[in-house]
Amino acid sequence: MAKHSLKPRSAYAGSCIILTTKHAKSIAIAPPFWGKLEASVLEYVVDTDQLGTFSGEIKRKESALECARRKCEWPLDCFGDKVEFAMASEGSFGPHPFIPFLPCDHEILYFIDRKHGFHLYLSHLSEKTNYRMEAIDSLELLDKFAKNAQFPSHALILRPNSRETTAPIFKGVNSQLALEEAFFESKKSALDGNVWIETDMRAQFNPSRMAVIGELAEKLAERLATHCPQCNIPGWGKVRVETGLTCSGCGSGTKLIKHEIHGCTKCSYEEVHQPSHGLEQAEPGNCQYCNP
Ligand SMILES: [Zn+2]
Ligand SMILES: [Zn+2]
Repeated sequence: MAKHSLKPRSAYAGSCIILTTKHAKSIAIAPPFWGKLEASVLEYVVDTDQLGTFSGEIKRKESALECARRKCEWPLDCFGDKVEFAMASEGSFGPHPFIPFLPCDHEILYFIDRKHGFHLYLSHLSEKTNYRMEAIDSLELLDKFAKNAQFPSHALILRPNSRETTAPIFKGVNSQLALEEAFFESKKSALDGNVWIETDMRAQFNPSRMAVIGELAEKLAERLATHCPQCNIPGWGKVRVETGLTCSGCGSGTKLIKHEIHGCTKCSYEEVHQPSHGLEQAEPGNCQYCNP
């Protein structure tokens, strides 16, 4: 009998994944989950601000990863066994870990699969962000900031410069009229005459961030479409790397990646893969002995 050539359906085909979000993130997340897994994404809209806000009125107490996991568990706690699959994302912004002054968007996408019994998260560091903040005192500086922050496609947040007072605060500002109003109102209430202005990093106000979340969703969906060669559970992929690629000059181990280890979300099966950089050996320039 001829083997049918149809692509096997994904483990999530026809299922519904609950996404905890306050900021319409299914815009970015749903398309790859539908395209690669035939799974629908349904938003569970809750006030995630209680775990922390970017604009600082509520400080995030836990790590970004812990926050993502907590958000993911909400619908599971709330709806019990009716929910098999849940997902949530969490972003952090700041300087690049290795390149000072380069702003970065670090996104985590957390997924819980109750049916197959595993948790899986992926993270992504992207320089594609307009993240910035400044104290300003003139309309010239306001215009300059707005231009650099890709306003008005990307919204802004304004308030009096004092970081102690949170009111008045203008969020999601995305028109010239609202921007100038927010500027003058904030200036009026500012003790030092300065206005604090920052980029609004909430996903639906920040297309750059939405796009980064989309890239990460693409990776997670791809990962969930890949099954363990041993037990066939979804989520197979890179779990860690091993450094120590040998130097072509002296043969000692360098800090470059030697192997990628791929593993299962459920069983202990692992495989050693060639690293994605494709190098057989490291250049002596990367060696601590040849190039100390
Ligand atoms: Zn397995
Ligand atoms: Zn060497």
